[in-house]
Amino acid sequence: MCSLSSEIEFYKGDVSYADVSGGAMWIELLEQSLKLGLAPRSLTDYLYLTIGGTLSNAGISGQTFKHGPQISNVLQLKVVTGRGEIVTCSPTKDAELFNAVLGGLGQFAIITRARILLQEAPQKVKWVRAFYDDFGAFTKDQELLVSMSDSVDYVEGFIVLNEQSLHSSSIAFPANVDFNLDFGTRSSPKIYYCIEFAVHDYQTKNTNVEHVVQVISRQMSHTASHLYSMEVSYFDFLNRVRMEEMSLRSSGLWEVYHPWLNMFVPKAGINGFRDLLMDSISPDNFEGLILIYPLFRHKWDTNTSVVLPDTGSTDQVMYVVGILRSANPIDGCSHRCLQELLLRHRHVADAAAAGLSAKQYLAHHPTPAGWHRHFGRR
Ligand SMILES: Cc1cc2nc3c(=O)[nH]c(=O)nc-3n(C[C@H](O)[C@H](O)[C@H](O)COP(=O)(O)OP(=O)(O)OC[C@H]3O[C@@H](n4cnc5c(N)ncnc54)[C@H](O)[C@@H]3O)c2cc1C
Repeated sequence: MCSLSSEIEFYKGDVSYADVSGGAMWIELLEQSLKLGLAPRSLTDYLYLTIGGTLSNAGISGQTFKHGPQISNVLQLKVVTGRGEIVTCSPTKDAELFNAVLGGLGQFAIITRARILLQEAPQKVKWVRAFYDDFGAFTKDQELLVSMSDSVDYVEGFIVLNEQSLHSSSIAFPANVDFNLDFGTRSSPKIYYCIEFAVHDYQTKNTNVEHVVQVISRQMSHTASHLYSMEVSYFDFLNRVRMEEMSLRSSGLWEVYHPWLNMFVPKAGINGFRDLLMDSISPDNFEGLILIYPLFRHKWDTNTSVVLPDTGSTDQVMYVVGILRSANPIDGCSHRCLQELLLRHRHVADAAAAGLSAKQYLAHHPTPAGWHRHFGRR
């Protein structure tokens, strides 16, 4: 849809927004809005994706706990329907079409233009990483951080399975992570967890971001002395995956297969999901990244097409788990190995859906029955 590109129009006021083509990429919107001191409130980790493409799914990242997914930050859409009609829709005009298109997997209309909410952009970001050897302490601290949305602006986390995953997750993080982790042996592997959070720095006189981070981290229970922080420009922070992409491209590891699985898991099922996942993985030969971070269900508009797990009426927390594998044919993962990985992911997704009420994000179901189960009564 990149050929559907035209000028971005900005409105700066109490509520600031941009009118942008569905075929433009988030990076273009970010670069242009930063010139006005503004930025989209909710982004994806990788910004070289189109506005229409991520709005057809949800668009999530470490800001989602605070601002909701990208589909919760859209004021209006211009779409072309299956009848060839051009319709401008919003929560108050043709709301049913507006909601259907958001998270609608491209099935309801083509998004040609979107009105995206913007906020004041900070100059810099304090980017912090803390390491854990205990999954319970890791998730407890993540939930603590997302409960502090007045001071914390971004929360993610990942599993550190082996030396390679420590190295590849550190490409964009400019601090020198100077400790040696003991990953155990093949028969008795040891794994770690890393929380990543960020605090915006508007460089005003009255706020000391260093102090804010100190106050927050004193309440956390990461492994002693395993906390690292860096101050980086806001743009470099948001564009961090591009740096990883460039590094992977230079070693021929970007254009390889990426059998990925993304799941939304209710908080009550996150320990069970971790166990299910670890049963299907050998830490010593896993290539890629496993992201885990919490989101709040109430930040999502349940009228859109996105399917979320039922977290029950009392608990608003759910987790996103992204199993972002790389499978390189040169290292021996060609067709058969890839099919095996996909089958393993299918097994994890089906078992988590049946036993833990999890739902797949960026869903792909091989059978109509799978889609029926995914959407349920809807
Ligand atoms: C490297 C990488 C990193 C990613 N990181 C994240 C992340 O951090 N968070 C996240 O939420 N997602 C992430 N994704 C997933 C991403 O949201 C989806 O792949 C999305 O479809 C990407 O948009 P695209 O522009 O590449 O879409 P395309 O691949 O061009 O399109 C995918 C589908 O989206 C629909 N679509 C695309 N454009 C339109 C339109 N204008 N109108 C209607 N339907 C449309 C169509 O169904 C189309 O088949 C990532 C994907 C990649 C490849």
